Amino acid sequence: MTRNILRGLTLLLCISSILEGSDLSIRERLMGAAYLDNQAYHLLEEMTDRFGGRITGSKSNEQSMRFLQEALEKKGIKSWQEPFSFPGWVRGKDEAILIEPVKRPLRAIALGYVQSHPSFSAEVTLIDKSKEEEIAAELRGKIGLVPANVRLSTKTIDLLVKDRGLKGLLLINRKNGGQLLARTQHREGSPSTIPVFTITEEEGHWLKRLIERGEAPSVQLTTRSETKPMRTANLVATLPGQVKEKIVIGAHFDSWDLGQGALDNGLGIAQAYDVARLLKTIHPNNHYTLEFVWFNAEEFGLYGSYAYMEKHKNDPIRAMINMDMVGDPIGINAMGFDSLIPFLEGFSQQLKALSFTRAMDNKPWNGSDHIPFILRGIPSITLYAPINEESSRFYHDFGDTFDKVDEATLSKSIAIISLLAYELANDDKLNLPRLNEEETIALLRKAKLENSLRESGYWPFAD
Ligand SMILES: [Zn+2]
Repeated sequence: MTRNILRGLTLLLCISSILEGSDLSIRERLMGAAYLDNQAYHLLEEMTDRFGGRITGSKSNEQSMRFLQEALEKKGIKSWQEPFSFPGWVRGKDEAILIEPVKRPLRAIALGYVQSHPSFSAEVTLIDKSKEEEIAAELRGKIGLVPANVRLSTKTIDLLVKDRGLKGLLLINRKNGGQLLARTQHREGSPSTIPVFTITEEEGHWLKRLIERGEAPSVQLTTRSETKPMRTANLVATLPGQVKEKIVIGAHFDSWDLGQGALDNGLGIAQAYDVARLLKTIHPNNHYTLEFVWFNAEEFGLYGSYAYMEKHKNDPIRAMINMDMVGDPIGINAMGFDSLIPFLEGFSQQLKALSFTRAMDNKPWNGSDHIPFILRGIPSITLYAPINEESSRFYHDFGDTFDKVDEATLSKSIAIISLLAYELANDDKLNLPRLNEEETIALLRKAKLENSLRESGYWPFAD
């Protein structure tokens, strides 16, 4: 009897150690645990409900980061903050009040880097063209109302202020339902010369109808926000591998202040947390080192990922995965790095029922934390992972709250990203050369990204 039990136990131990050692078992365990032991969802709920939005430089941002550090610590993952400076901005009590034909406050917020300006009232006029020479309206001493489909560049706004005497701007939001899209007025981090507000679509269209009927509405603008240099930090944690070469798994930590930043980018925070936790639990010893980075100040202009890349420019970074608002992964993007394609194709095939339904993309895009890595020639990966329109429309708005997060989709994304991180960190045959400057420029030009990078001030190469 005893002998039989012992024999049984030995057999079980043998089987489980075979399974544990096998690649198949680790992949299955990662996938299964992502669904059945998802801890990201509740972490995100607790963090967003306790601290709210995480605009960089705020107490909420610092408290949320400490909360994440403690959560990692409880799972045996040591993390540390890497401080950096950036042009910060503090929202003050800014106001836009309709004065004529009726007095009432407007639902409008100042854009980032808008400064304190003395309160003034002015007539509102329509700016319905984006080129300076095509704008016929008399602007001197007036506030411009800009429809959502008209995009004024920083350069044009500066011209309209300097040469035509424009005093303020109201930018109409692109979604209805009282929504407001928080963002910066420009990417340079310098104070805005005039007050620039975004206003709800409904109230914007109301003003537009008044203007078109010749009723000359007037609005009073008061701004109390401040631009000032700030210190903040990225959060970093590693699972050391057999070699020092590393894979960076990154997600921006900050959000805007209006809502809870649950989608943008609470999702990425939670995904990076659970991927780190699952790998630490199931397969902590990988060939390559895995470095998890929660970047700060992304919303103000990718300041955290630039600071990280500057500090770690000589580190042997093999590849990076960036997760910014990753919803349901239905595709993957090699971002112009042809060396990644065979690996990513193989990766998609083995996902079986979770396989990507969209053909692989191989084109980099501007506007998130992979940019500083790509500019250094580092192979970067992003997921094509939409969030349903009913939820995603609230990004940067009051409505970016935890109720928009779908637990099953979050589990699926964590399953896929864990597997991707595991495969990348253990495929020592994969040839992923870092591109030199010339090759990097060629990659960016091919993707027609040069202009947008130059416009946003991110083009680092000499002419
Ligand atoms: Zn984002």
